Amino acid sequence: MFNLILFGPPGSGKGTQSEMLISKYGFKHLSTGDLLRSEIANKTDLGLKAKSFMDNGQLVPDAVVIGMVDAAINANKQASGFLFDGFPRTKAQAIALDELLESHGTAISLVLALDVPEEELIVRMINRAKTSGRSDDADEAVQKKRISVYKNETLAVAEHYAAFDKVITLNGLGQIDGIFSSLCKEIDARA
Ligand code: AMP
Repeated sequence: MFNLILFGPPGSGKGTQSEMLISKYGFKHLSTGDLLRSEIANKTDLGLKAKSFMDNGQLVPDAVVIGMVDAAINANKQASGFLFDGFPRTKAQAIALDELLESHGTAISLVLALDVPEEELIVRMINRAKTSGRSDDADEAVQKKRISVYKNETLAVAEHYAAFDKVITLNGLGQIDGIFSSLCKEIDARA
């Protein structure tokens, strides 16, 4: 099994690149943001619980997100590999993910981190808000909060995997196709 984490701040292009990577490699896409938005759309208890955190740019509690990922992994045991997008976002989530994967006899193979300057992230979130309908993209205070949560809580995930020599950082600025090619090059070198 080849399990990939596509890592980067909000607006770094993880969603766009994930779509292209799953269609090329057949990964099972596991985006916790998408899973949470679908819980909200279906008005589930979990969705109701998550919504206020998301609207404020805060992280949904670890236990909620880890439970959701556990269920998704169990429901896709036949997958040839997972692409984790927007997860893990805290060190506790990374440790929980490692344990979950270990219990299925597998592990994270590679973390590809997209590097994009902060000013560009804001521009991209503003543009995405025009078509995504995501309220957390449209509000400037929420955008800033999400970036600060990324720095304070999520960067620790990259440190966690760097200690196992699993992180490659790539330039996330430029043409979508060019960034996609550099991601593929790193995957092909290891798969
Ligand atoms: P995303 O679509 O990945 O940008 O996520 C949108 C929002 O969903 C985030 O700002 C968080 O509020 C919540 N969220 C998504 N993934 C996670 C996660 N792994 N841990 C905690 N909260 C998450």
